[in-house]
Amino acid sequence: MRSLIDIIDFTTEELDALIRTAVDIDADPAKYAECCKGKKIATLFYEPSTRTRLSFEAAMLELGGSVIGFSGAGNSSASKGESVADTAKVISCYADIIAMRHNLEGAPLVAALNASIPVINAGDGSHCHPTQTLADLLTIYREKGRLDHLTVGYCGDLKYGRTVHSLINALSRYEGIETVLISPDELKLPDYVKKDVLEKKGLPYEETTDFEAALPKLDILYMTRVQRERFDDLAVYERVKDSFILTQEKLDLAKPDTAVLHPLPRVNEIAVGIDEDPRACYFKQVYNGKLMRMALILKLLGEAQEDRANVRKAEIQAVCRTKAGRTCPNPKCICHTEQELPAYFRNLGGVDRCLWCDSEM
Ligand SMILES: [Zn+2]
Repeated sequence: MRSLIDIIDFTTEELDALIRTAVDIDADPAKYAECCKGKKIATLFYEPSTRTRLSFEAAMLELGGSVIGFSGAGNSSASKGESVADTAKVISCYADIIAMRHNLEGAPLVAALNASIPVINAGDGSHCHPTQTLADLLTIYREKGRLDHLTVGYCGDLKYGRTVHSLINALSRYEGIETVLISPDELKLPDYVKKDVLEKKGLPYEETTDFEAALPKLDILYMTRVQRERFDDLAVYERVKDSFILTQEKLDLAKPDTAVLHPLPRVNEIAVGIDEDPRACYFKQVYNGKLMRMALILKLLGEAQEDRANVRKAEIQAVCRTKAGRTCPNPKCICHTEQELPAYFRNLGGVDRCLWCDSEM
């Protein structure tokens, strides 16, 4: 069974194929209107995320399928202590594909290893959110006509922003990508992303705190929010917070065709007036996200006949090691609550990382 847990699960060719399908769906929706007739998606949202859940549900309905599921762990058997593994086995009897959102990191991977239907990670804690990345890629492709030879600026919280890490990873496969990292010192991109992705592939990047100086270079500007709760020292937050807000005056420094993206929801990091600027692409991202989820559902259901779960288990056993007494330090990791889950780790970039949540062990 093929699943999508992390954007690195898909090859570049597969990402390109998804984009082609999404563009075709948009051009001729009637052709796809009954593709999933008789199929059901189960949206298992252990934490509420209305926008993502509705996107999956709209995607399945527009393919002619139907939807079952729950939102909020209090409304499900999780509140009675059922494991993620058992839930995945049970839901496999009711639905054809699962979209899972979970507060614990690694939970969708546990589900994928136990379900007999494909599982899509709809966001696990601050770990991965691959369908947001699919929406970002389609938006960049449609605005620029390509995914290579672009200068991409990321502005805001680059430390905790999982969508930033994931998009950097996805774009690193394409040629000629230059990366500009714009953030306060407190929220810089973690070293392991720089080492494992940018440096490993020899991709040029620069780090700066000067948003205005960086803006004129960018083909793409990916904005995220600088949150107060990320700062130990609130005085530092007060000093830097306005420097990473996109105003019309700042946007005037950018190229006439710079595309401005944001994973939403926005609070105040992009001035509302910019919404009318043709460079604002964040609401198009929402629409593109639905198209990519449609393409993804079609792909995974099309491959559902293949027995990928056992292949994946074998792959994991081949690359991962366990050591008695060694546990994942991340309190939000699924390994602490799921019964009998081995403390698997693997070596990535010279560091042992938890299989489930990628934390350093
Ligand atoms: Zn872990």
